[in-house]
Amino acid sequence: MLNYIFLGPPGAGKGTMGEMLCERTGVIHLSTGQLLRDEMASGSELGQKVKSIITSGALVPDDIVTAMVSKRLLQNDIRQHGSLLDGYPRTTIQADSLKRIFADNATELTAAVLVDADRDILLGRLTARRICSNKACGAIFNLQSNKPAREGLCDRCGSALVQRSDDSEETALDRLRVYDQQTAPLIDYYRKTGKLVVMKSREVTAEQNFATLLAALNM
Ligand SMILES: [Zn+2]
Repeated sequence: MLNYIFLGPPGAGKGTMGEMLCERTGVIHLSTGQLLRDEMASGSELGQKVKSIITSGALVPDDIVTAMVSKRLLQNDIRQHGSLLDGYPRTTIQADSLKRIFADNATELTAAVLVDADRDILLGRLTARRICSNKACGAIFNLQSNKPAREGLCDRCGSALVQRSDDSEETALDRLRVYDQQTAPLIDYYRKTGKLVVMKSREVTAEQNFATLLAALNM
């Protein structure tokens, strides 16, 4: 059975690569964000607890997330088709928990896939969005994938395009710093266990990057 973990900085295309690998192999995508939302929507006791924690602005504790992941990994579809985890583990403690969960299910991790990219590529992607300053219009452009016809001007209404603070270089650098701090221990963890597979995403089509990923996975 195939079980993957996907890691990677914002802007590297981890989500797209994960989706494509699910499609190719039939493994089931498991996102902790979705698990939390599903649990809250179910109205269960655990869901209510999660909701009050998130509403208070706190992080959902390790043991709750681990319990939810464990429960999901035991369900029949995943036992038949395998899993691709995104957003879990976040810490080496969770990584240890996951190892135990897999062992309890008589399976193991196939690979921890790090979808990486050069910093200038990440920064370019994370800061490429431009929005129309005319609120009544609100058109969205992307300097890489959906350029306006005239630089700095909206195609639809001709107003000036602006960058939201979420898309600024400062915010992007912050996100990358947080990512580095949080993820470096996990990368070391999986490198030591021999499960780490590194794939560098480049400025080519998603299909070409996916081919690179398959080669890295010896598929
Ligand atoms: Zn406009």
